[in-house]
Amino acid sequence: MKVHTLSGYIAKLYLVEYDKGLLLLDSGCRCDVPIVKGFIEDKLKRPFSDLKLVCVSHAHPDHSGGASFYQKAGIPIAGKDEVNEWYKGLNGLMAYLIDIFLTYYVAKRVRKEKVYQNVLFPRKLKFDYQLEAEKPLPLFEDWLALSTPGHTSTDLSFYHRESAQAYVADNLIVTSKGLIPPYPTFDPEAYQESLSRYIDLNIKKFLMAHYGSHELEPEDIHKVKERASKKPRIHRTVLPKMLKRTLLKKLKLS
Ligand SMILES: [Zn+2]
Repeated sequence: MKVHTLSGYIAKLYLVEYDKGLLLLDSGCRCDVPIVKGFIEDKLKRPFSDLKLVCVSHAHPDHSGGASFYQKAGIPIAGKDEVNEWYKGLNGLMAYLIDIFLTYYVAKRVRKEKVYQNVLFPRKLKFDYQLEAEKPLPLFEDWLALSTPGHTSTDLSFYHRESAQAYVADNLIVTSKGLIPPYPTFDPEAYQESLSRYIDLNIKKFLMAHYGSHELEPEDIHKVKERASKKPRIHRTVLPKMLKRTLLKKLKLS
């Protein structure tokens, strides 16, 4: 088994290579699909159809946004149907539009070129395989799906026991400020439990969507637990403050 790290539009993508086939841990954005295809065909010299499974950790444009486009290319996708609750109805549509806006906000900060790309995606996914907590991934039984909610309501992590590593999606983020909790934090209590789960499982290597993989000690995770907000940090409460701050900054500058 070999884990390849690819640089996607705003996130790292983890492509796990076996002789029997390839596994992609999160789909990335819609515009990441050609990046993955190009890597498989040009670098690995394998047909795109060797990609046997794309797993979805949670509903955000850079995690689930590309999924339906792999499916259209004949590649099965796996996740939890509950993911579809996140963008359901009018509130879900608002969250979807805000998340698209935030994707561009992040892209503006992390990309030097091709900042605005098409990241639109269907709000509802029809999974080929359902993923269940504590159960192996289909076709790649050495990886387990873990239920690790908190960032959203339905986050999954993908855990490889043998190598003591896990793809934790957005649950841990490394920036220039060090290791931080994600935004949003939808359910702070669940988030604390999810981080404790990583410690209990004695995971050593953490594959993070932002921005790379790191070996972490339990103390590092404990620090994030302390740093994490005890109250939900969601669009409704955080974005108005953020906009106010940005406006004030702009007014001072002008
Ligand atoms: Zn996320």
